[in-house]
Amino acid sequence: MPLLCEVAVPVPLARAFSYEVPEALADKIRPGARVLCEFGRRKLVGVVLGVAEGEPAAGVRLKPVASLVDPEPVLPEELLAFLRELSSYYFAPIGEVLRLALPAMERDQVRALGAQGELSLGRVKQVGGKRIAYAKPTDALEAPGSLKGQAAAVLSLLRASGEAPVARLEEKFGNARAAVKKLASLGLVELEEREPPRDAFFAVPEPRDTPPELNEAQAAAVGRIEGALGEGKSAAFLLFGVTGSGKTEVYLRAIAACLASGRGALVMVPEIALTPQLVARFRARFGDDLAVMHSGLSEADRHAMWKRLRTGAVRVAIGARSAVFAPVPGLGLVIVDEEHDGSFKQEEGVRYHARDMALLRAHRTGAVVVLGSATPSLESVELVRRGKLAELRLPDRAHREATLPEVQIVDIRRIGPGPIGNKLVSLPLHRALEKTLAAGEQAILFLNRRGFAPSVVCEACGQVATCLACSVSLTWHRTRGGRLRCHYCDWEGPMPEACAACGWKGLELEGLGTERLEDAIAQAFPNARVARLDRDVADGAKAEAILARMRAGEIDVLVGTQMVTKGHDLGNVTLVGVVNADAALSLPDFRAAERGFQLLVQVAGRAGRRDRPGRVLIQTRTPEHPAIMFAAKHDVPAFLEYELHDRAEVGYPPFSRLGLLRVDAIDEEVARQAAGKLAAYARTCPEGASRAVDVLGPSAAPLARLRGRYRFRVLLRSKDRRALRGAVAAAARGIAELDRNVRVVIDIDPVAML
Ligand code: ADP
Ligand code: ZN
Repeated sequence: MPLLCEVAVPVPLARAFSYEVPEALADKIRPGARVLCEFGRRKLVGVVLGVAEGEPAAGVRLKPVASLVDPEPVLPEELLAFLRELSSYYFAPIGEVLRLALPAMERDQVRALGAQGELSLGRVKQVGGKRIAYAKPTDALEAPGSLKGQAAAVLSLLRASGEAPVARLEEKFGNARAAVKKLASLGLVELEEREPPRDAFFAVPEPRDTPPELNEAQAAAVGRIEGALGEGKSAAFLLFGVTGSGKTEVYLRAIAACLASGRGALVMVPEIALTPQLVARFRARFGDDLAVMHSGLSEADRHAMWKRLRTGAVRVAIGARSAVFAPVPGLGLVIVDEEHDGSFKQEEGVRYHARDMALLRAHRTGAVVVLGSATPSLESVELVRRGKLAELRLPDRAHREATLPEVQIVDIRRIGPGPIGNKLVSLPLHRALEKTLAAGEQAILFLNRRGFAPSVVCEACGQVATCLACSVSLTWHRTRGGRLRCHYCDWEGPMPEACAACGWKGLELEGLGTERLEDAIAQAFPNARVARLDRDVADGAKAEAILARMRAGEIDVLVGTQMVTKGHDLGNVTLVGVVNADAALSLPDFRAAERGFQLLVQVAGRAGRRDRPGRVLIQTRTPEHPAIMFAAKHDVPAFLEYELHDRAEVGYPPFSRLGLLRVDAIDEEVARQAAGKLAAYARTCPEGASRAVDVLGPSAAPLARLRGRYRFRVLLRSKDRRALRGAVAAAARGIAELDRNVRVVIDIDPVAML
């Protein structure tokens, strides 16, 4: 019987294709390896999913695999199986899922294939070029006395040191290259070409630290994790520790234990560019044998990191959500820090949730997983209640003198503005800033709005300037003499001279954005050094520079968006002001309260992390909102309790599962009808008809128009995962019948509801 293989090719089709395995490749083609195949008239690089003997269906002539790209499968079996499950869970084509996980192809691999056809799947951006040859001793033994001179000397040095760059050997032994060649031909030494990592995260050396003595709660948590690692079975924990409670120290100990058992560890963080401190702490503990995976890496660096993991040269990977695909060797531990963070959900292409997928991957491989947060997601809290996650608590801050900051709620309906005259810088906030600056301490002011003024309003008719392509108001930015910008489609244009509706020439800038706040504070406190941190001033590297200045005490007041709320550990920050708490709480999203609460607790957690007590001011027009009341009391468990009760009542996650079908088109009616058709498919399928699945909609999305396209949606909801899958599949069958100009996105377990 002929040998056949299933190959996933990089086309947006959910299924794989069968090819015949030529005899010459029979013992080489294995699952996870890349192969070159004819597809239509093109040649494509695909990934082998499986190999089996079999007969093709009658009358079908299968094409043979043209050639093999990787002598060793590029994807380890564990990872490949995980990716297949991910693909099926998210209704995402396997080719697109593989694309997320594959490294680039190396230059010589591409050369070997010849420049034929279109090579895709795994960015065929070629890497390689500047590479360093490493010599590494093998386990083979030479015949006694058979080696002399430099060959013997080089071999004994390599055996002592493990491996060395050939160039370095040449500094020591004039004839090292010839000696290595000889050793390699005898099988005593292996040569490996590698690219040295050149990453900013590794630019400055990091001295090793001395691990602190664990406090009781940390020790208990570490003990439980070590116990689970020792059993070698999959186990899942929620590390619920207040801000500054020393969760990172728990991670470090857990990783040390994992490495000691010979396995590898994966650490996932929300936005790695904002957490250089975390990487520094890992380097201080484990040295530079870390793969740090982030979006700022060049293709070549990314590939080098990937290869160091795949070959087992490095066993710890740290990265943002895409690190969930890192080929960590012998995966024993997965850590998801700030597991509640929305950035773990990918919102384009394959819409996976990295936290959920971390749980899945760990479960499949028998790894231990630790989700850490000061404000756990309701999903995770519910998993604890159902016994799927074991809870570990760190109830106090780790620094003995540090306590949680005192929180004051400022009701800006009743309390007037300070000397600046803007309601959003109230008198209490102004006074608190004065006091902080006088004491030589630092403050963080958090405001959820970029730009100068969030809206431009006509004095005469009250019309608000909106984006022509999106149903949102335009923000005025100070840049280049004043420009209007849409924060959704990034349109930018000049400030109009007159109102578009009535022609009146009096347009007013309304509201407060971070640019305006920065100005106002700088004017009110001329001696203070004020800086701003938001997406407009800072991408990854610049954000780090601003935070470094903050750490060095070169900034007194840092004004910024969400970027200031992330896990920074800044010792001298004693005041945190939340300028407008209501902005986040009023979004049309069932998670608005949860997310607003998380934001408040996280930003409040930046204050008073050392010996000096911290203070937090929350300005709001809805002081009675539960998210604000519980945040002010630092009562995370009580908020979770309250919010779970609320969710249970309305039947939203974690008490049900959701599948969202997003439909958009240039024409409003076309989009509406398309959504209606998908809803009808979902309603008439067995799951929908039996009411095992609620079909909500079609309805206009809260953000009804974006980039010139009208948006509608159909929300499927069920307590039963299987039933939900059935209904989503039924609705998806309707997609093929839609107008070609309609776009449909299937979003399983959606996070963004706008
Ligand atoms: P979290 O990640 O929970 O917000 P961190 O891990 O950043 O907290 O810890 C807060 C601070 O406490 C850090 O400066 C850390 O070095 C310190 N720390 C952690 N554990 C201990 C300990 N056992 N003893 C003393 N200091 C500690
Ligand atoms: Zn727009």
